[in-house]
Amino acid sequence: MFYCEECRVEKKWPRPPTYPYHNRVTAQCEICNKFSVLYNVPALHLKPEEEKSVEEKLLDKMIQEEYKKKCEAMVLTVIEGTLAGAVDHKATNELQESFIEKSGKIDWYATYELRQTIQKHHDAVKKIERDRRLI
Ligand SMILES: [Zn+2]
Repeated sequence: MFYCEECRVEKKWPRPPTYPYHNRVTAQCEICNKFSVLYNVPALHLKPEEEKSVEEKLLDKMIQEEYKKKCEAMVLTVIEGTLAGAVDHKATNELQESFIEKSGKIDWYATYELRQTIQKHHDAVKKIERDRRLI
């Protein structure tokens, strides 16, 4: 679900667990229809735990398990040199130690989003370092 900061405050929804490293989307808010920079959070995650139905809790569990697998499969790779494309084990270990917790439990959906941000940052920084050496 896409929503703006104004609607978030009005609905008393929490910020994304990955805030301030959350994904930003410029689009039309699904609540007020204004174009703005939006949060993108699954509607299911905006519901308090006690209001979720049995089916919703099951779905939530399935989503978490799916994202846990995605998280554990994530690697950072070497960007340059003869090993370019190979797994960067040191950086991957650091990546695998990044978690987002919600009420004492790992939120794998949010952790995946955070790790994607780290991955993008890692690749971008390594490319800048390479380009600097080429100048
Ligand atoms: Zn809005």
